[in-house]
Amino acid sequence: MSGFKDVVGHKNIIKYIENAVMADAVSHAYILNGERGSGKKMLANLFAMSLQCQDRQEDGEACGKCQSCRQALSGNQPDIIRVTHEKPNTISVDDIREQVNNDIVIRPYSSRYKIYIIPDADLMSVQAQNALLKTIEEPPEYAVIMLLTENADTLLPTIRSRCVMMKLRNIKDQLVRKYLMEQMHIPDYKADVCVAFAQGNMGKAIMLATSDYFNEIKEEAVHLLRNIDEMSVSELMEAVKRCMSYKLEINDYLDIIAIWYRDVLIYKATKNVDRVVFSDQLRYIKIRASKSSYEGIENILDALEKAKARIKANVNFELTMELLLLTIKEN
Ligand SMILES: [Zn+2]
Repeated sequence: MSGFKDVVGHKNIIKYIENAVMADAVSHAYILNGERGSGKKMLANLFAMSLQCQDRQEDGEACGKCQSCRQALSGNQPDIIRVTHEKPNTISVDDIREQVNNDIVIRPYSSRYKIYIIPDADLMSVQAQNALLKTIEEPPEYAVIMLLTENADTLLPTIRSRCVMMKLRNIKDQLVRKYLMEQMHIPDYKADVCVAFAQGNMGKAIMLATSDYFNEIKEEAVHLLRNIDEMSVSELMEAVKRCMSYKLEINDYLDIIAIWYRDVLIYKATKNVDRVVFSDQLRYIKIRASKSSYEGIENILDALEKAKARIKANVNFELTMELLLLTIKEN
């Protein structure tokens, strides 16, 4: 990733950033809000690199070659500061005081701006936010602060009202698919599953496409779905035991099963194979579509939702999965 031109999606945000940079109308504080994997860090890094570039292009894009850009690309630009936190689940008032408030009064080392990127900003304690508020209220002219959040609503209204809000949206499935296939050389049948799963989240799609573990869970789920008709009750119980090792990723496992049955439903209703996500499993999808009734498939999809809710509510895991697999087998 070298510049805005390589970014998939987020066109409105990029247009906004480029205009702000070119018009020299940069605000002192921004919130980049979006779910994990949506591209907040990437956009903040590119924004910062463009602001600090010594030879910026006419369209607002960083040159990628000057000293500042090279430092930014390797994560060593002295005037781009990434705020870290000691404790995993909170950004304390001391973190903000030491890394932002006490540091921001020192002029930039070598660039025009001094940029603070605060990942996981929703983890700031109320005291930390109040400490940051003082800086945001009267920032030095060279200061730019970027707060990265998954849920900006958790920030104090006084902070939100002083920041320019940029909301990252889901990226169109076809763009995610194109990126996986063309840039990462993921085969189409595999890309389809990742895209269906990631729901417009590019980071998640890339993670899924490159994760051996996700593949393993997928293979396990697919194996079960192909063979469940012939499985004895004791074999089912063994399958439940194997699910125990995926306990932390059980929602992924259940989502894979749901995507599979949605495929079955779509194929049964339309006979259209283009809309089937598991395109490498077409043979089995067709068999299932002819064996199961509409009602049966709906029962299974309902049972999947129920199982998720039960697991979330800490109902006995083995029992929940047993019930689910029996429902799948019966329908
Ligand atoms: Zn540059």
